[in-house]
Amino acid sequence: ETKAPSNFIRQIIDRDLAEGKNDGKVVTRFPPEPNGYLHIGHAKSICLNFGIAESYGGSCNLRFDDTNPEKEEDEYIQSIKQDVQWLGYQWSGQERFASNYFDQLYDLAVGLIQKGLAYVDSLSPSEIAEYRGNFTTPGKPSPYRERSVEENLTLFEQMRNNKLEEGEAVLRAKIDMQSPNISLRDPILYRIRKKTHHQTGDKWVIYPMYDFTHPLSDAIEGITHSLCTLEFEDHRPFYDWVVENTSVTTTPRQYEFARLNLNYTLTSKRKLKQLVDEGYVNGWNDPRMPTISGLRRRGYTPSSIRTFCESVGVSRADSVVDMAMLEAAIRDDLNQHAPRAMCVMNPLKLVIENWDEGKEDVLVAPVHPQNEARGTRQVPMTRELYIDREDFREEANKKFKRLVLGDRVRLRYGYVVRATDVVRDDQGEIVEVRCTYDPDTLGKNPENAEGQGKMRGVIHWVSADKALPCEVRLYDRLFSVANPNKELEEGQTFLSHINPDSLTVLENCLVEPGLRGALAETRYQFEREGYFCVDQDSTENRLVFNQTVGLRESWPK
Ligand code: ATP
Ligand code: MG
Ligand code: MG
Repeated sequence: ETKAPSNFIRQIIDRDLAEGKNDGKVVTRFPPEPNGYLHIGHAKSICLNFGIAESYGGSCNLRFDDTNPEKEEDEYIQSIKQDVQWLGYQWSGQERFASNYFDQLYDLAVGLIQKGLAYVDSLSPSEIAEYRGNFTTPGKPSPYRERSVEENLTLFEQMRNNKLEEGEAVLRAKIDMQSPNISLRDPILYRIRKKTHHQTGDKWVIYPMYDFTHPLSDAIEGITHSLCTLEFEDHRPFYDWVVENTSVTTTPRQYEFARLNLNYTLTSKRKLKQLVDEGYVNGWNDPRMPTISGLRRRGYTPSSIRTFCESVGVSRADSVVDMAMLEAAIRDDLNQHAPRAMCVMNPLKLVIENWDEGKEDVLVAPVHPQNEARGTRQVPMTRELYIDREDFREEANKKFKRLVLGDRVRLRYGYVVRATDVVRDDQGEIVEVRCTYDPDTLGKNPENAEGQGKMRGVIHWVSADKALPCEVRLYDRLFSVANPNKELEEGQTFLSHINPDSLTVLENCLVEPGLRGALAETRYQFEREGYFCVDQDSTENRLVFNQTVGLRESWPK
């Protein structure tokens, strides 16, 4: 286990522990709203919250912030649980729901009314917004602000008992309409929403607001350090107000850190949902998506994502992280761990004229060239092979380290061959290369090579008879500009910057036969090509691979 690098939040915790705060306990939570799939930004929050709990011997809750019944779905709840576990974390006890606390929250709201700290406002939503003012205009009090405690209690009960219509009344905290901090200008605590809730059904027609629910859920669960992103900084005084003025017994504290932004993609559930709903991608787990499930399908490992989050660090300075950094994390991981295989993506037949028809050799290749302990694999070799079209030229200068007519290359793990001729179709396109092989070159260099042409390099290949047909999906950036939210002209949205070439499907690829039956999510290095992973669309007769990342950083192209 490597020690997590320190950051300003860990320093706060160290100080709290040194001062004996919270009885020496560290309790964090990860609080997603189940209104979409988790993305790489959430992974940062997950790694932070669960990572802190792990290293301080504390615990971390998974809590669904489910105060918005209209946008939430069970599918999202299931996917979030799966993604957190896949990343390698387990929450403490059962997963929790803010809606578990609706009864308690209602009572705490009644308590605020009784203290004269909350009132039912009958202004319309647009009037409330207008009265609230903005950064330059002070707010002004609602005419309903001075309702009596009794009247407020009666009206709040009527709200709860479905006696009022949506938009007719809200419950507001009574704080300060003149506050320079707009979130203290009598924020709304409850609104009427006549929607069935995925957890509480039709029990409620009023729902608490996030800013009221969150501090109370934290307090009820005994959270000590409530970590959220910087946009909640202005809400912190209200967070503290709620904890202080309700009869909860613990005092959670909120700390803010910078969101993770990645270039060439988006970390906003709302926008990612739009990509899914409008068919720009094939679902939330499309391998081009920055969702955890998309990255998983693309071939990312949990540890590569954790390594990435750790190297990004935790700070209070907003920044945009280069996608290349995420790719480097998976490349390093797969370079170390992925077994090797040969896959020909753009097949061109290579016939060995001096190889007997029907003869088959079984060549032995390492599973991982830098790790002997991984053992070997068997690669059948026959008279007819396929090589990549890109690996052959009739003529080329000396920089071309592949097969050229008249010259030689080594077939990876096999023999040295020399191209002798080409066969063309009616259109004049080369459909076959003829060659001869030198039987004395397995694992050693040719001895007498005079007049045999230049020895150029090593290429990969598969046996034409034995290889498995497969499909390979190549991916490029989802957006063609670094920041899809910027550089927008009149009438454009982030959708205008979608990269039309983010997916290329190669239907006629061939992979070595040892991969038969490979399970979804098995990852390989296809030698000379990059890292690939078996897709869930694979069938018994046809494997489908997703390109995870290239062998080397290749952006911009
Ligand atoms: P989105 O805008 O994508 O919907 P959100 O913040 O509304 O994000 P939540 O479901 O509320 O999504 O997020 C759960 C937790 O993950 C929160 O604590 C939130 O601060 C954190 N989080 C969300 N996005 C990021 C991000 N890009 N970087 C770091 N943490 C994030
Ligand atoms: Mg949120
Ligand atoms: Mg959101």
